Amino acid sequence: MNPLNAQTTRYRDCIYCGQDTGSEEHLFPASLGGRLTHKGVSCGACNNSFFDIIQALATQFAVINGMLGVRSDHTPKRKGPRPAEGDSALGKITVDAKGKPSLVGPRLKKKEALSNGNVQATTSFGSMKAYQKWLEEKRASGIVPIKSKKVGEFDVFVPEAQFCVGFGGSKMLRATALIALNFLAFKWPKLARTGELQNFKCYVKGKLLLKQGEPRSVWFAPTNAPSMPPAKTQFGHQVLIVADPAGSYARVRFFSTFDLCVDFGRLPTDEVEAFLFDINPLEDSPQKNVIQTSPLEYPARLLPPSTDDVSGHVELLRSRRLDLQEKIEAKWWTSNTEGLLDALNSTSSHKMVERTLAIIELLRPHRGYVLWLGRAGVRLLRESAQDEATQFLADCVEELFAPELNEDDGLSELARGTMEEGLFLLASAIARKLEEGPLTDHQLRLFLTGTDGVHVIMTEVLPFVQEHLKKAYLLRQIYPHTSRHEHDEEIP
Ligand SMILES: [Zn+2]
Repeated sequence: MNPLNAQTTRYRDCIYCGQDTGSEEHLFPASLGGRLTHKGVSCGACNNSFFDIIQALATQFAVINGMLGVRSDHTPKRKGPRPAEGDSALGKITVDAKGKPSLVGPRLKKKEALSNGNVQATTSFGSMKAYQKWLEEKRASGIVPIKSKKVGEFDVFVPEAQFCVGFGGSKMLRATALIALNFLAFKWPKLARTGELQNFKCYVKGKLLLKQGEPRSVWFAPTNAPSMPPAKTQFGHQVLIVADPAGSYARVRFFSTFDLCVDFGRLPTDEVEAFLFDINPLEDSPQKNVIQTSPLEYPARLLPPSTDDVSGHVELLRSRRLDLQEKIEAKWWTSNTEGLLDALNSTSSHKMVERTLAIIELLRPHRGYVLWLGRAGVRLLRESAQDEATQFLADCVEELFAPELNEDDGLSELARGTMEEGLFLLASAIARKLEEGPLTDHQLRLFLTGTDGVHVIMTEVLPFVQEHLKKAYLLRQIYPHTSRHEHDEEIP
């Protein structure tokens, strides 16, 4: 039993309808990484009636959950977090907590008729689950694959993917009110059962219709709103509840980024008291998942906006989301390049040539970043293109990295050659930089994802690609039916 639960064990009537409370309910939504449960807020029927608003909230944060690796408390630990799902030109794509993308659907890679009348096909899958499903479908249709082998997904090539994220709407706001009320009932069970909260509860249940201009109980905190105390964890949620005779209120912050204000109105309380709950969605044990404190400083009450004016909201939410995305990418960087910086710096005893070779080997597992740089380079090239020829070059480079479905890493031979060249040039640039002294993490990051790397790509790799493309396109004009693979063979 959680020690936090001890103080309220005697309240067993639903705060909404007075019936006996149901089973243990999550105070913070399980789908957003809430682990702490409590039996003293709502009955089973009332709790079930909140399913759709909690679901709406979960859907809005599903992509962020996936990118961060937040496991829903309803998903068994062994299954792990559900990756973020997006769309690409090649179909559904997922991205896990390390930023590693995988294509979901099965893809036929090779098919040939054998002399004995059988057909040999190679198909790749994004996951074992997708493979099992495909196997069942094949068996149901009477085809029995006789031999199968697990094949790795593309580890380098990733098509551009789109992830849809949208926030807001009345269900999301009501879900936020529900969370605030859960914590109020948890800390002040008596207060949560007073008649003054009747309207607020109707709002949570969706039974309160607001008239034009009537203040809402929940709204997105404006940019200049006094901020919450710093979160205990980088991507933590926070719930602040304040009992105040002048007006009780709450603040709810999702993923240290999205701030909402909740107004409970005037409740029968004599003194000011506040509790802050820090929820770490990446922490599995309920005890460590929630840290409760009595903050000395916290934002004062804000009065609800009296109009439904939402102008500026889109911009506000957009900039918050971009901030969060940047933090998530920083997290991916750290988890993907662990040990790389030390290894690069410790090549100092090598001579220049050996050093470059050693650096190439160290960078090899990070080829994905080289591809990333290549794309950034193409974008830059396209933006700065003043003439048709440069525009054409940008088109060609983009086509160069079109997915090659028959290859394990999704790269055509020419693209792979370009990647190797990029890797080599980047390694040489890093080796030159290392001559001046050890690299910092910031410098390494600039090399592999930012300005330094793009500079190398633009000034050294692009001319190389241009030369090769000239030959390839020249040959294609002469032999339009030959494949790109054959072009390479014919280049002297
Ligand atoms: Zn009830």
